[in-house]
Amino acid sequence: MNPAIIINITYIVSVVLFAIGLKMLSSPASARKGNLVSALGMLLAVIATLLTKGLTFQWILVGIVVGSLIGVAAAYFVAMTAMPEMVALLNGSGGLASVLVAWAVYHFAPNSDIFTTITIFLSVLVGGVTFTGSVIAWAKLSEKISGKPFLFAGQKIVNFLILGAILVCGIIYTMHPAANYPIFIGTVILSLILGVLAVVPIGGGDMPVVISLLNSYSGIAACFTGFVIQNTVLIVAGSLVGASGIILTQIMCKAMNRSLTNVLFSGFGSAVQKKGTAVQGEIKPITPQDAYLILEAASSVVFVPGYGMAVAQAQHVVRELGELLEANGADVKYAVHPVAGRMPGHMNVLLAEANVPYDHLVDMDQINSNIASVDVALVIGANDVVNPAARHDEASPIYGMPIINVDQAKTVFVLKRSMRPGFAGIENELFYKENTRMLFGDAKESVQGLVAEFKSS
Ligand code: NDP
Repeated sequence: MNPAIIINITYIVSVVLFAIGLKMLSSPASARKGNLVSALGMLLAVIATLLTKGLTFQWILVGIVVGSLIGVAAAYFVAMTAMPEMVALLNGSGGLASVLVAWAVYHFAPNSDIFTTITIFLSVLVGGVTFTGSVIAWAKLSEKISGKPFLFAGQKIVNFLILGAILVCGIIYTMHPAANYPIFIGTVILSLILGVLAVVPIGGGDMPVVISLLNSYSGIAACFTGFVIQNTVLIVAGSLVGASGIILTQIMCKAMNRSLTNVLFSGFGSAVQKKGTAVQGEIKPITPQDAYLILEAASSVVFVPGYGMAVAQAQHVVRELGELLEANGADVKYAVHPVAGRMPGHMNVLLAEANVPYDHLVDMDQINSNIASVDVALVIGANDVVNPAARHDEASPIYGMPIINVDQAKTVFVLKRSMRPGFAGIENELFYKENTRMLFGDAKESVQGLVAEFKSS
């Protein structure tokens, strides 16, 4: 059989595996296998591409070895809490790869047809913005630079002017690509600058949306690059990432109460400068011993995990407590907020790692509809996602963000180390509510204390 046909058939199999893998990612029960199925699709696509005639393997092998070493090291050594930063860097790498591939094609064949010329320009534009935007997102998330929005007068106008300049460069370059190498380089530089300027004004509170949006951009850039090098599987894989990234972006926007247009074109994150109305009241600490007595009598308990559970690595002991509560006759659920933690799906990953049964996970809407009948809501290192100010305090930066209404449960235990705020940097009136008790300490140690009480009784 003609090798080209074999390669195309392999690409079709890869694409089918990508689609099946993506579908499997939509349920926690099948997500891990979905990842493997998609990875198998990618492996086949890479092998088929390497079999394309005329490739020199020397540098490809160097790339495979270096890339694999970095990938394996990152997978083993990056802490779970640093995963969002890693995702940002991976998005950025995708963007950079698109820029470099498009640039290489232009460099070696500057007189390509008009279609290739335009797709080279689009690869560089979207890839460049994705690369530097992702690096800034990484720097903000890892606190290499301040997570606060960096704003200056006329920022949006400057961004639009740069975008306009890129488009003008694009038109000049497209008309005479071979004669306009400096204009092409100008496009690369301006795209890189635009990526920086687009993300620096975004405050930490909007970072989940930015991460998923950059993820989508990296897919779109890869798709354009697929057209540049006429690689079908890259076009399809890029489209899948681009489309699923946009869908995720919309889900995140909804969870953070921001419209996509607002995220794309308005002053990102300026709301985080607000501090919200001052909270008044008294906090009521509780000991694990007293908390145990209330839990022991509870017939329904809901765990609400947040970023603090990831920091404390408390997921395993939380699952153990859940099992003890069930053995004691309580109905136990785990309510997961879409932006709890520091990356989309952060809590789902941790709970899955701890083997929490998937049918025990409930989403925000499900739990909110019957939260009033819950005896005890156990808030494990969550803060912003359970802050009732989001419902009523128009001065609050998180006003309008859907939250898990734990304050409406009969009793709330909040497990955290101090009165320090969460990611949005604001106070939480939940901690002062009549039905709230604060169980201070590292979440893992506090839950271990509760487990010990159950075991010793
Ligand atoms: P928050 O960041 O609001 O709060 C986390 C809380 O955990 C803190 O108040 C902290 O309090 C507590 N904590 C930290 N370490 C420990 C520990 N070892 N033991 C016990 N408690 C601990 O988390 P949420 O999950 O409620 O909200 C997520 C926030 O992050 C939202 O504002 C969201 O917009 C944002 N975000 C989400 C992303 C995503 O994709 N999911 C990405 C980026 C940002 P203390 O220090 O007192 O212990």
